[in-house]
Amino acid sequence: MGAGGPFKNIPPNDSSAIRAQNCKAVDRLLYENNGLTKNEISQRLSLSMPTVAGILQEMEEDGILEYYQEKDVATGRPPLKYLLSSKTHVCVAVLIRDDYFKTLICDVHGRSLFSASFSLPYENNGDYWEEVCSLISKSMDSCELELKKSIGVNVILSCQVDPIEHLIIDRQHGEKFSYFNINQMETMLGAPVYLNNFYESAAFELGSTVAPQGNCIYLHISDVIQSVCMAGGRIFRTWENELGTLGHITLVPLGKKCRCGKFGCAQAYCSTDVFKEVFGEDIAGFLEDRSNTPQKQVFWHEYISLLSILISNQYNIFKMPVYIGGELAKYLSGEDIELLNTMVCNATGSPYCLYLAGDSEELAIYGAIKILLHNFK
Ligand SMILES: [Zn+2]
Repeated sequence: MGAGGPFKNIPPNDSSAIRAQNCKAVDRLLYENNGLTKNEISQRLSLSMPTVAGILQEMEEDGILEYYQEKDVATGRPPLKYLLSSKTHVCVAVLIRDDYFKTLICDVHGRSLFSASFSLPYENNGDYWEEVCSLISKSMDSCELELKKSIGVNVILSCQVDPIEHLIIDRQHGEKFSYFNINQMETMLGAPVYLNNFYESAAFELGSTVAPQGNCIYLHISDVIQSVCMAGGRIFRTWENELGTLGHITLVPLGKKCRCGKFGCAQAYCSTDVFKEVFGEDIAGFLEDRSNTPQKQVFWHEYISLLSILISNQYNIFKMPVYIGGELAKYLSGEDIELLNTMVCNATGSPYCLYLAGDSEELAIYGAIKILLHNFK
């Protein structure tokens, strides 16, 4: 064996650490390259052939390696090409909602292997999380996948979290998740567990798929207003890392009182709660018969105008396209979008600032998988 292959910072006498690092290097290399020969692995990592052969044999015994023989080589027996088994390094995303939780299992290339929604009302106790873990394990079993060979399980909560420290740091909703314990979950699942925020995961998905150069603002409008800024495919945290701040910027100076105590917050005008406050109906009920009710038509037009100011301000600050998600996005008709677009376009001078984000749960759960894969690379 060479002096520890590419990992020269390990003391040369610590052979098990060197071996573990070499295994990891082979693992990463195969993850990034679909099909390499023993010789190619040896050359790329500056490892001896016997070292590579030993690692590959071990991986094969662990059931995480597949190989195939290349066809049509001019002379001699074609060498075997090795690749990671699609059953290994799978990613699991778990989206916790009030009345149910969703899970999505994808292979190492991000292809969906399993998805399900479990109706399990959220409860802040240990039994709830035990049940979640048990249902994740059963889902993995049904696909004949092993959690211990997975990259990990990414838990998505709608409260503010610190994804590096795996902590809930939400001042408002933190209490609601006081029973969430990442270490206990890791013990129950036998796999690494990660923690991310719902809105940030949705934004990450947009940033890594549709948004040009990974730049966009994800504007989530439901009973709360959240916005996440993606710059170059990375989450850009502004406002002292505080989510939900956008809802409480002043939209109408000296306007009506917000539930936070201030006056004229965006939350008090643009959240979907305003329909309940003013008409006693949720947004679906409000919109159903709005064409027959003049007051509703006026109110809706005002709502769209104020929303256009919020969107225009976001665009003017960041100069990035704004993607609208959340409950509101489900109810905006083509006509509404056109009106909103015209208003935003007039205010910003740019015709390319407003898009619909699509289903936020779908975005968040696929984003959760992308975050796992991104961190693994
Ligand atoms: Zn407020």
